[in-house]
Amino acid sequence: MTLDVAWAIGWVRLSAQTVTEHRSELIELDRQIGDGDHGENLFRGFTAVTAKLDALETQPADIGEVLKLVATTLMSTVGGAAGPLYGTAYLRAAKATGLPELDSHGVVALLEAALEGIVARGKARTGEKTMVDAWAPAVEAAVAAADAGATPAAVLEAAAAAAGAGAEATVELIATKGRASYLGERSQHHMDPGARSTELILRAAAQAAE
Ligand code: ADP
Ligand code: MG
Repeated sequence: MTLDVAWAIGWVRLSAQTVTEHRSELIELDRQIGDGDHGENLFRGFTAVTAKLDALETQPADIGEVLKLVATTLMSTVGGAAGPLYGTAYLRAAKATGLPELDSHGVVALLEAALEGIVARGKARTGEKTMVDAWAPAVEAAVAAADAGATPAAVLEAAAAAAGAGAEATVELIATKGRASYLGERSQHHMDPGARSTELILRAAAQAAE
């Protein structure tokens, strides 16, 4: 079993759907430890991506082309920290998908590249209460699943579940990166919005692969 361009397009559309459905929740999370724009930022970004996909005259040829469209659109439409962070993630992921179809190890390479992009851009490490706390365990779980012979869909499901646990674990962390770090200890007892949106986006990737 492999994933192709139809999966990538499905991933984008389901991401747009889930950030729309969770828009208020992400706004509320960001209101508690940030400036309350994360839900709006991602809603705007993914709505713009789907609009661009709809307007294309010829369908994208491969996964890389889809991810590149996501990257450039998020970078130009999403403000704040998340735009450049997700933008870099998708750009690196696009470059990591050389082949037209992805097997389990190809999926791992995509996720690893995305995490590398986020770390290169934001310089956060795990434990700083950022989206890295969802992405890093997601990549770890994906590697383990692929090494154990899981299908691409199962690799993505393992990644999404680990991102969810990672997002949950940000609740007790004190932020030392990003806007939430201005709150110091008052950032504790709240979930990081970017970790939560990471979980949602990875769940969309898994759903698209079903
Ligand atoms: P802003 O903080 O500029 O308002 P958003 O609200 O859209 O941007 O996004 C906030 C999210 O960005 C945080 O919840 C966190 O997950 C993520 N983030 C912020 N700074 C960093 C960083 N340096 N590295 C990784 N992720 C970060
Ligand atoms: Mg914000």
